[in-house]
Amino acid sequence: MKIDFANLTKAYQEHSSEFENAVFDVMSSARYILGKDTEDFEASLKNYVKSDFALGVSSGTDALLLAMMALGIRSGDEVITTPFTFIATAETIACLGAKPVFVDIDEKTFNIDPSKIEAAITDRTKAILPVSLYGQMADMNTINEIASKHNLFVIEDAAQSFGAQYNGQLSCSMSTVSCTSFFPAKPLGCFGDGGALFTNDKDLYEKMKAMRVHGQVKRYTHKYIGMGGRLDNLQAAVLNVKLPYYDEDIKRRQNVAKKYTALLADHLITPEIEKGRTSVWAQYTIRVKDRTALQSSLKEVGIPTAVHYPIPMHLQECFAYLGYKIGDFPISEICANEVMSLPMNPYLSDQEIEYITTNLIKNL
Ligand SMILES: *Cc1c(COP(=O)(O)O)cnc(C)c1O
Repeated sequence: MKIDFANLTKAYQEHSSEFENAVFDVMSSARYILGKDTEDFEASLKNYVKSDFALGVSSGTDALLLAMMALGIRSGDEVITTPFTFIATAETIACLGAKPVFVDIDEKTFNIDPSKIEAAITDRTKAILPVSLYGQMADMNTINEIASKHNLFVIEDAAQSFGAQYNGQLSCSMSTVSCTSFFPAKPLGCFGDGGALFTNDKDLYEKMKAMRVHGQVKRYTHKYIGMGGRLDNLQAAVLNVKLPYYDEDIKRRQNVAKKYTALLADHLITPEIEKGRTSVWAQYTIRVKDRTALQSSLKEVGIPTAVHYPIPMHLQECFAYLGYKIGDFPISEICANEVMSLPMNPYLSDQEIEYITTNLIKNL
């Protein structure tokens, strides 16, 4: 058997004629930049998330950049985040000249541990940037309480959690500004780069909307320093096809996760979802010892695996100037050594799931 990790081919095939019609429509209409497809998609997005405003942008990374630029985060400021994430989270803070300040994660959820945040707050702290990793939201209520007590912004990095719930509230609806990604391998992916920003603050929305087009408020009239950060209209057309099917995809991913857990929980550490939360299973990530040997045994029998992420941010060469060292964030370091993601997509059959889990257990 040969297993497909994310099965983007199947995702295309399932609705191929709808995608093709939508894309041809954009091409023949010559609406390439910020056209009707983008506006329609933004309207659907804010309804889906139940936030007041949504803005399509060029990627998850640019969403993070635009959010922080619009909040005025700059040199001398500190932003508290997790070391156990994809580079873009911390990189964008540093791009603006601000300082990423790391706080260790909770071993059960892999998300920032809110009980450790207050100790990291200083006079320079401007924002808390939690990541909703693997598809499960961070502990937003607790984080929001800490933020309001200290007068800080909250920016949710929801690149992996679009569609996830926290006590009935959706990811991207619970912070000052939220950022998601439609990179192809994310739970809701387009056919290239794409992302979105969400907020309930009208002024912030207007500012981010201007900054998305070089800070322009009127043609060739620039109120802010911005960037070229628009969502491509072709990608918006693709996403307009995909969004109505997304809840069904989430259910199928949740079903796959449930089966994995039922078959694996007696043998290794399986992921846990906190009470009141749901996951969209951007990744199904287990913890094992001797990961490298296991990965190569599985590869031999046609089972691809991945590591999200092998090196925590505080130990990355690019952040050496921050002066962190091994041992500073022990839970992130243990997880970085032990995590391994299994194939995850809405199309995995029971047979494939059994094949994966049987081979996994056999090689432990
Ligand atoms: C994918 C990802 C990003 C960046 O999104 P892009 O669309 O690839 O730029 C940021 N943060 C996290 C946690 C991600 O997984």
